[in-house]
Amino acid sequence: MSVYVVSAPSGAGKTTLNRRLIENYSDVMMSISHTTRPPRPGEVNGNHYHFITEDQFKSMADNDEFIEWAKVHGNLYGTSFRELNRILEIEKKPLLEIDVQGWGWANGRLEDAESIFILPPSLKSLWDRLEKRGSDTLQIRWTRLQNAYEEIKQSENYQYFIVNDDLESAYDALKSIVVDGKPNMEESEKGKELCKKLNEEFETADWILELREKLE
Ligand code: ADP
Ligand code: 5GP
Repeated sequence: MSVYVVSAPSGAGKTTLNRRLIENYSDVMMSISHTTRPPRPGEVNGNHYHFITEDQFKSMADNDEFIEWAKVHGNLYGTSFRELNRILEIEKKPLLEIDVQGWGWANGRLEDAESIFILPPSLKSLWDRLEKRGSDTLQIRWTRLQNAYEEIKQSENYQYFIVNDDLESAYDALKSIVVDGKPNMEESEKGKELCKKLNEEFETADWILELREKLE
Protein backbone atom coordinates (compact mmCIF):
# COMPACT_ATOMS: atom_id res chain seq x y z
CA MET A 1 0.00 0.00 0.00
CA SER A 2 1.38 3.44 -0.95
CA VAL A 3 1.82 6.34 1.46
CA TYR A 4 0.96 9.77 0.00
CA VAL A 5 3.03 12.74 1.08
CA VAL A 6 1.59 16.18 0.37
CA SER A 7 3.60 19.36 0.91
CA ALA A 8 2.92 22.95 -0.07
CA PRO A 9 3.89 26.46 0.92
CA SER A 10 1.48 27.86 3.49
CA GLY A 11 -1.58 29.30 1.72
CA ALA A 12 -1.21 27.20 -1.46
CA GLY A 13 -4.38 25.27 -0.61
CA LYS A 14 -3.25 21.85 0.71
CA THR A 15 -5.73 21.83 3.60
CA THR A 16 -8.63 22.70 1.28
CA LEU A 17 -7.64 19.99 -1.22
CA ASN A 18 -6.76 17.25 1.30
CA ARG A 19 -9.89 17.76 3.41
CA ARG A 20 -12.05 17.45 0.33
CA LEU A 21 -10.29 14.27 -0.73
CA ILE A 22 -10.73 12.53 2.63
CA GLU A 23 -14.38 13.61 2.83
CA ASN A 24 -15.11 12.07 -0.58
CA TYR A 25 -13.01 8.90 -0.35
CA SER A 26 -13.26 6.88 2.82
CA ASP A 27 -10.28 4.71 1.86
CA VAL A 28 -7.98 7.75 2.17
CA MET A 29 -7.07 8.72 5.72
CA MET A 30 -5.16 11.68 7.10
CA SER A 31 -2.17 10.78 9.26
CA ILE A 32 -2.46 12.73 12.53
CA SER A 33 0.86 14.31 13.44
CA HIS A 34 2.24 15.16 16.86
CA THR A 35 3.04 18.80 17.49
CA THR A 36 4.22 21.13 20.25
CA ARG A 37 2.23 23.99 18.69
CA PRO A 38 -0.70 25.09 20.86
CA PRO A 39 -4.12 24.24 19.43
CA ARG A 40 -5.87 26.96 17.42
CA PRO A 41 -9.50 27.76 18.25
CA GLY A 42 -11.65 24.84 17.09
CA GLU A 43 -8.77 22.33 16.87
CA VAL A 44 -9.36 19.08 18.72
CA ASN A 45 -6.62 16.95 20.31
CA GLY A 46 -6.32 13.60 18.53
CA ASN A 47 -8.30 14.87 15.58
CA HIS A 48 -6.31 17.71 14.00
CA TYR A 49 -3.08 16.90 15.82
CA HIS A 50 -1.84 15.10 18.91
CA PHE A 51 -0.90 18.17 20.94
CA ILE A 52 2.02 17.37 23.24
CA THR A 53 4.67 19.20 25.28
CA GLU A 54 8.22 19.74 24.10
CA ASP A 55 9.47 17.21 26.71
CA GLN A 56 7.01 14.58 25.46
CA PHE A 57 8.08 15.29 21.88
CA LYS A 58 11.77 14.99 22.73
CA SER A 59 11.21 11.73 24.55
CA MET A 60 9.35 10.30 21.52
CA ALA A 61 12.17 11.47 19.23
CA ASP A 62 14.80 9.90 21.54
CA ASN A 63 12.87 6.61 21.47
CA ASP A 64 12.88 6.70 17.66
CA GLU A 65 9.08 6.81 17.50
CA PHE A 66 9.02 9.23 14.56
CA ILE A 67 9.44 8.38 10.89
CA GLU A 68 10.31 12.03 10.48
CA TRP A 69 10.10 15.22 12.45
CA ALA A 70 10.96 18.87 11.84
CA LYS A 71 10.85 22.32 13.35
CA VAL A 72 8.41 24.41 11.35
CA HIS A 73 7.72 28.10 12.10
CA GLY A 74 9.25 27.59 15.58
CA ASN A 75 7.24 24.48 16.60
CA LEU A 76 8.04 20.76 16.43
CA TYR A 77 5.98 18.46 14.20
CA GLY A 78 6.39 14.73 13.61
CA THR A 79 4.77 11.66 12.06
CA SER A 80 4.87 8.60 14.31
CA PHE A 81 5.37 5.02 13.10
CA ARG A 82 2.41 4.12 15.29
CA GLU A 83 0.06 6.49 13.44
CA LEU A 84 1.19 5.29 10.03
CA ASN A 85 0.84 1.62 11.03
CA ARG A 86 -2.63 2.30 12.47
CA ILE A 87 -3.78 3.45 9.03
CA LEU A 88 -1.97 0.73 7.07
CA GLU A 89 -3.33 -2.02 9.35
CA ILE A 90 -6.92 -1.09 8.45
CA GLU A 91 -5.88 -1.06 4.77
CA LYS A 92 -6.50 2.64 4.16
CA LYS A 93 -4.28 4.99 2.14
CA PRO A 94 -2.34 7.30 4.49
CA LEU A 95 -2.10 10.97 3.52
CA LEU A 96 0.83 12.71 5.20
CA GLU A 97 0.68 16.51 5.30
CA ILE A 98 4.30 17.27 6.09
CA ASP A 99 6.76 20.05 5.28
CA VAL A 100 9.65 19.90 2.83
CA GLN A 101 12.30 19.13 5.50
CA GLY A 102 10.12 16.29 6.80
CA TRP A 103 9.93 14.74 3.35
CA GLY A 104 13.72 15.08 3.13
CA TRP A 105 13.91 12.71 6.12
CA ALA A 106 11.03 10.41 5.23
CA ASN A 107 12.15 9.98 1.61
CA GLY A 108 14.13 6.76 1.73
CA ARG A 109 12.70 5.63 5.07
CA LEU A 110 9.27 4.99 3.53
CA GLU A 111 9.33 2.09 1.13
CA ASP A 112 6.35 2.92 -1.04
CA ALA A 113 5.80 6.67 -0.97
CA GLU A 114 4.34 8.99 -3.59
CA SER A 115 5.25 12.65 -3.08
CA ILE A 116 3.12 15.58 -4.19
CA PHE A 117 4.00 19.29 -4.09
CA ILE A 118 1.17 21.81 -4.42
CA LEU A 119 1.95 25.23 -5.88
CA PRO A 120 0.08 28.51 -6.11
CA PRO A 121 -0.21 29.96 -9.67
CA SER A 122 1.92 32.94 -8.57
CA LEU A 123 3.39 34.33 -5.34
CA LYS A 124 1.05 37.31 -5.67
CA SER A 125 -1.94 34.95 -5.57
CA LEU A 126 -0.41 33.14 -2.57
CA TRP A 127 -0.04 36.50 -0.85
CA ASP A 128 -3.64 37.47 -1.64
CA ARG A 129 -4.93 34.12 -0.36
CA LEU A 130 -3.04 34.47 2.91
CA GLU A 131 -4.49 37.97 3.29
CA LYS A 132 -8.00 36.78 2.47
CA ARG A 133 -7.76 33.83 4.88
CA GLY A 134 -7.25 36.50 7.54
CA SER A 135 -5.49 34.28 10.10
CA ASP A 136 -2.05 35.97 10.06
CA THR A 137 -0.59 39.44 10.64
CA LEU A 138 1.35 41.20 7.88
CA GLN A 139 4.68 40.24 9.48
CA ILE A 140 3.69 36.55 9.73
CA ARG A 141 2.48 36.57 6.13
CA TRP A 142 5.86 38.00 5.10
CA THR A 143 7.62 35.18 7.00
CA ARG A 144 5.35 32.64 5.28
CA LEU A 145 6.17 34.15 1.88
CA GLN A 146 9.90 33.89 2.56
CA ASN A 147 9.43 30.29 3.70
CA ALA A 148 7.44 29.61 0.52
CA TYR A 149 10.44 30.74 -1.53
CA GLU A 150 12.79 28.45 0.45
CA GLU A 151 10.40 25.48 0.16
CA ILE A 152 9.88 25.92 -3.57
CA LYS A 153 13.68 26.02 -4.02
CA GLN A 154 13.93 22.66 -2.22
CA SER A 155 11.03 20.97 -4.03
CA GLU A 156 12.99 19.13 -6.72
CA ASN A 157 12.78 15.75 -4.93
CA TYR A 158 8.97 15.54 -5.27
CA GLN A 159 7.46 13.23 -7.88
CA TYR A 160 4.32 15.19 -8.74
CA PHE A 161 3.55 18.90 -8.91
CA ILE A 162 0.02 20.32 -8.83
CA VAL A 163 -0.76 23.96 -9.59
CA ASN A 164 -3.70 25.09 -7.48
CA ASP A 165 -5.05 27.82 -9.76
CA ASP A 166 -8.54 26.54 -10.52
CA LEU A 167 -9.58 24.55 -7.42
CA GLU A 168 -11.55 21.95 -9.40
CA SER A 169 -8.63 21.12 -11.71
CA ALA A 170 -6.22 20.93 -8.78
CA TYR A 171 -8.60 18.62 -6.92
CA ASP A 172 -8.92 16.39 -10.01
CA ALA A 173 -5.12 16.23 -10.26
CA LEU A 174 -4.80 15.18 -6.60
CA LYS A 175 -7.56 12.61 -7.00
CA SER A 176 -5.95 11.20 -10.16
CA ILE A 177 -2.77 10.49 -8.17
CA VAL A 178 -4.14 9.24 -4.84
CA VAL A 179 -7.43 7.62 -5.83
CA ASP A 180 -6.99 6.60 -9.48
CA GLY A 181 -3.24 5.99 -9.53
CA LYS A 182 -3.11 7.77 -12.90
CA PRO A 183 -1.10 10.99 -12.55
CA ASN A 184 -1.06 13.44 -15.45
CA MET A 185 2.70 13.77 -15.92
CA GLU A 186 2.39 16.52 -18.55
CA GLU A 187 0.58 18.80 -16.08
CA SER A 188 3.04 17.82 -13.38
CA GLU A 189 5.97 18.88 -15.61
CA LYS A 190 4.30 22.27 -16.12
CA GLY A 191 4.12 22.61 -12.34
CA LYS A 192 7.80 21.83 -12.03
CA GLU A 193 8.58 24.53 -14.60
CA LEU A 194 6.45 26.99 -12.64
CA CYS A 195 8.79 26.62 -9.63
CA LYS A 196 11.49 28.54 -11.51
CA LYS A 197 9.06 31.35 -12.35
CA LEU A 198 7.91 31.61 -8.74
CA ASN A 199 11.51 31.92 -7.57
CA GLU A 200 12.12 34.65 -10.16
CA GLU A 201 9.01 36.44 -8.97
CA PHE A 202 10.33 36.39 -5.40
CA GLU A 203 13.69 37.77 -6.46
CA THR A 204 12.52 40.49 -8.87
CA ALA A 205 8.84 41.49 -8.48
CA ASP A 206 8.30 45.15 -7.51
CA TRP A 207 5.59 44.35 -4.95
CA ILE A 208 8.01 42.04 -3.12
CA LEU A 209 10.85 44.58 -3.19
CA GLU A 210 8.45 47.14 -1.70
CA LEU A 211 7.41 44.73 1.06
CA ARG A 212 11.03 43.92 1.84
CA GLU A 213 11.87 47.62 2.24
CA LYS A 214 8.88 48.13 4.46
CA LEU A 215 9.22 45.05 6.69
CA GLU A 216 12.93 44.26 7.05
P1 ADP B 1 -2.73 25.72 3.20
O1 ADP B 1 -3.36 24.60 3.96
O2 ADP B 1 -1.84 25.24 2.09
O3 ADP B 1 -2.05 26.75 4.08
P2 ADP B 1 -5.49 26.58 2.70
O4 ADP B 1 -6.15 25.34 2.21
O5 ADP B 1 -5.77 27.05 4.09
O6 ADP B 1 -3.92 26.53 2.45
O7 ADP B 1 -5.87 27.74 1.65
C1 ADP B 1 -5.47 29.11 1.85
C2 ADP B 1 -6.64 30.03 1.44
O8 ADP B 1 -6.75 30.00 0.00
C3 ADP B 1 -7.99 29.60 2.00
O9 ADP B 1 -8.70 30.76 2.37
C4 ADP B 1 -8.65 28.86 0.83
O10 ADP B 1 -10.05 28.97 0.88
C5 ADP B 1 -8.08 29.62 -0.39
N1 ADP B 1 -7.94 28.78 -1.60
C6 ADP B 1 -7.55 27.49 -1.68
N2 ADP B 1 -7.51 27.08 -2.97
C7 ADP B 1 -7.86 28.15 -3.73
C8 ADP B 1 -8.02 28.38 -5.16
N3 ADP B 1 -7.79 27.43 -6.06
N4 ADP B 1 -8.40 29.61 -5.55
C9 ADP B 1 -8.63 30.60 -4.65
N5 ADP B 1 -8.52 30.45 -3.31
C10 ADP B 1 -8.13 29.25 -2.85
P1 5GP C 1 0.15 24.17 10.87
O1 5GP C 1 0.76 24.61 12.16
O2 5GP C 1 -0.26 25.36 10.01
O3 5GP C 1 -0.93 23.15 11.04
O4 5GP C 1 1.30 23.44 10.03
C1 5GP C 1 2.49 24.10 9.75
C2 5GP C 1 3.37 23.25 8.84
O5 5GP C 1 3.76 22.05 9.51
C3 5GP C 1 2.73 22.81 7.53
O6 5GP C 1 3.66 23.05 6.48
C4 5GP C 1 2.51 21.32 7.71
O7 5GP C 1 2.58 20.63 6.49
C5 5GP C 1 3.69 20.97 8.59
N1 5GP C 1 3.46 19.71 9.31
C6 5GP C 1 2.32 19.25 9.88
N2 5GP C 1 2.51 18.03 10.41
C7 5GP C 1 3.80 17.70 10.15
C8 5GP C 1 4.60 16.54 10.45
O8 5GP C 1 4.16 15.56 11.04
N3 5GP C 1 5.88 16.58 10.03
C9 5GP C 1 6.42 17.66 9.37
N4 5GP C 1 7.68 17.58 8.99
N5 5GP C 1 5.70 18.75 9.07
C10 5GP C 1 4.40 18.77 9.46
